[in-house]
Amino acid sequence: MKYIEVILPLPLGNTFTYSVPDEWSKSVQIGMRVIVPFGKKKMYTAIVSLIHSNAPTLYKAKEIIYVLDEKPILRYPQLKFWEWISNYYQAYIGDVYRAAVPSGLKLESETQVRINADYEEETEMSEKEFRILDALSDGKIKNVAELTKDTEITDVMPLVKLLMEKGAVEVSEELTEKYKIKTETYVRLTEEAAYESRLKEIFDELSKAQKQLEMLMKYLDLSKALSKKNTVEVSKKELLEKSGVSTSVLNGLIEKGILESYKKEIGRLDLSVVKTEDPFPLVEFQQKAMNEIYRQFTEKQVVLLHGVTSSGKTEIYIHMIQKTLTEKKQALYLVPEIALTTQLTSRLKLVFGNKLGVYHSKFSDAERVEIWDNLLNGKGYEVIVGVRSSVFLPFRQLGLVIVDEEHETSYKQFDPAPRYHARNAAIVLAQMHGAKTLLGTATPSIESYFNAQTGKYGFVEINTRFKEIELPEILVANTKEAYRKKQMQGHFTPLLMQKINEALTANEQVILFQNRRGYAPYLECKGCAYVPKCKNCDVSLTVHKYLNKLTCHYCGHTESLPGICPVCNTPNLENKGFGTEKIEQEIRDFFPKAKTTRMDFDTTRGKKSLEKIISDFENGRIDILVGTQMVTKGLDFERVSLVGILNADNMLNFPDFRSHERAYQLMAQVSGRAGRKYKRGIVVLQTSNPNHPIIKQVIKNDYFTMFRTQLTERKQFRYPPYFRLIEITLRHRNAKVVDKAARQMASEMVKIFGKRVMGPNIPMIGRIQNFYIKNILLKLENKISPNQAKKYLQSIADTILATEGFKSIRISLDVDPM
Ligand code: ADP
Ligand code: ZN
Repeated sequence: MKYIEVILPLPLGNTFTYSVPDEWSKSVQIGMRVIVPFGKKKMYTAIVSLIHSNAPTLYKAKEIIYVLDEKPILRYPQLKFWEWISNYYQAYIGDVYRAAVPSGLKLESETQVRINADYEEETEMSEKEFRILDALSDGKIKNVAELTKDTEITDVMPLVKLLMEKGAVEVSEELTEKYKIKTETYVRLTEEAAYESRLKEIFDELSKAQKQLEMLMKYLDLSKALSKKNTVEVSKKELLEKSGVSTSVLNGLIEKGILESYKKEIGRLDLSVVKTEDPFPLVEFQQKAMNEIYRQFTEKQVVLLHGVTSSGKTEIYIHMIQKTLTEKKQALYLVPEIALTTQLTSRLKLVFGNKLGVYHSKFSDAERVEIWDNLLNGKGYEVIVGVRSSVFLPFRQLGLVIVDEEHETSYKQFDPAPRYHARNAAIVLAQMHGAKTLLGTATPSIESYFNAQTGKYGFVEINTRFKEIELPEILVANTKEAYRKKQMQGHFTPLLMQKINEALTANEQVILFQNRRGYAPYLECKGCAYVPKCKNCDVSLTVHKYLNKLTCHYCGHTESLPGICPVCNTPNLENKGFGTEKIEQEIRDFFPKAKTTRMDFDTTRGKKSLEKIISDFENGRIDILVGTQMVTKGLDFERVSLVGILNADNMLNFPDFRSHERAYQLMAQVSGRAGRKYKRGIVVLQTSNPNHPIIKQVIKNDYFTMFRTQLTERKQFRYPPYFRLIEITLRHRNAKVVDKAARQMASEMVKIFGKRVMGPNIPMIGRIQNFYIKNILLKLENKISPNQAKKYLQSIADTILATEGFKSIRISLDVDPM
């Protein structure tokens, strides 16, 4: 009898043994999906992780229900990589599977299925497939378990899979986006009209039909049909838009037999053939840096490229990716979430054409499945540019991994598990492929710079900007003094006001950075000092004036803005502090003629809204862009001459051992947006504390001093890179229960780890969504094996969970928390 070990998409640490009926015993392979029964009448799509012939001794193995695949959906070394993530980050292998594979590939009893209303294709269907479609024909969403009941078919899941592949049903755990086989209508010259001689006649004939002529000209222009070589397909939509002429005009041309329309199936992902261009040739200092990177790759697995903003790091990456492709290997280009914009993808698309795959978290599940399948089946993609989770894609053979903006904390997954750091995981992944990793940034993380200093990583530096434009001049504006002298206009110092005026007069653009969204971080009653708080979390509510609401940034709870203080009933509620919304409003009041837009979490929720703001800014439709740290991320605008940092203080005073490092990074990065193409830019940095060492370091662009000072503190207070942190979080609805459990857990930990245990502490937000939270921090010397420590921690956690009264406590481990 053949047995397999499978990974279930559940928070479970073990694999489970199933037996394989004869019909599949030859075909089943590691990395394939199988449907298995689990628990009470539930079914899941599991992944085969091992094939063997050892019957389990303690129980009788159940049989698998179905093998979904003809070939594995994973490639080597993906399973090994999952195991590394699971071990290092102390996550259940089932959770890793859940995070790694798009939900469209993981049917389970709870998977929601809905008929695709737009499906018209006439493909062959079996009687059972029809029965399932029939059961869904009322348009309602049913899960796999319900379908099984309604149709009385026992093997519903494989059939759903087939129907899904045909596009007849759509499937997702959430069903957020509509799955469609998309078609689009295109327009082309009829065969007859395409003859040059005939075309000339047509022009004459149309001289009386001016609009038709215009449209035809526009078509010829868009399609480049006259050039005969690189003809471009023109969609009906584009033609109508660009020509600004109505459909009836187009119909006229079609009736005359000049143009014809045709339908074309397009993937959700644009795979149409794109014309590519050579990348820009590197300038000398870039070429030198690249050569140096390659030289160091001969000795080191990882190289850190520390290059000032606008030095052309992206261009160097492009050249290196090209070289990787000529070696028939693939490249992974990781970027932080919000840096993945059309600015970057269009640049890459231009060089790599449809060899480029983009993996974005705003993609629908269907799009993710498509990328996964394309990679798996070797359909084209050789370069993936993507966010954190693209480390889980089925690469054939990576040759190069680039982690851009490697210092970005958003590379760390916080919730749910696995709580992995994509930069560090990518380094491990690259190693498994025998590939090299390039970390790039203008402001390295202390950890990476330390690794470079100590020789673990290679190190290459660029101090020159492209076109040798100097780094911006940073001017400090003292807000304390300006307040005292009553010179402030709203939240603007006279200096910042003056510079904005100058920039607008010179027809240049301005970026204003404030690290808080909303109108005011909180409300306070002048009479009784009452502050409205969230009913589910221990945080004050943020004022969003535009929505006329108070909202909680932790759980999303909203309530209407109170007119009077609900405690003392006086109209004394006052906005405290300020966020982007307030700044936007003040700017509109002070500069009514300027076009002002805000870019923050609240204005970029829609799939395309971030893109729109960026392209509007690029095309000069915006003069002043107000935003949160989103405006600091790798954007490349030509006409920005001024960057204003509204308030450096709140970044510096944040109670976290990384806050100074982060403040430096944010300020240096946002400054880097000024003066990139034509002339030196200006930064006005507002603070009440101009003598703060970090402010001084930012002004002098002195990363190294920042690094050295931080390092001393890290050593003294036992933080990374000298110590490894593991944070244990306990959550429960009852404050007393979580308190007692945390104290017990900490005291068990002290028995093993002694003074390395800190806490339990109440985190900055002690209650979120009605769960009370306690943290315990473990600080381990780098030389101590984390694996042994993690084993101890798990067993202590298990003991706590087995204690009477503590069963419903949630304990999570976060290795290398950020
Ligand atoms: P970084 O990533 O280091 O901030 P970018 O790669 O975005 O810098 O380069 C800054 C700007 O300079 C971009 O507009 C880029 O296109 C341009 N640039 C950089 N290097 C070259 C080059 N060798 N040839 C032409 N343009 C370049
Ligand atoms: Zn809340």
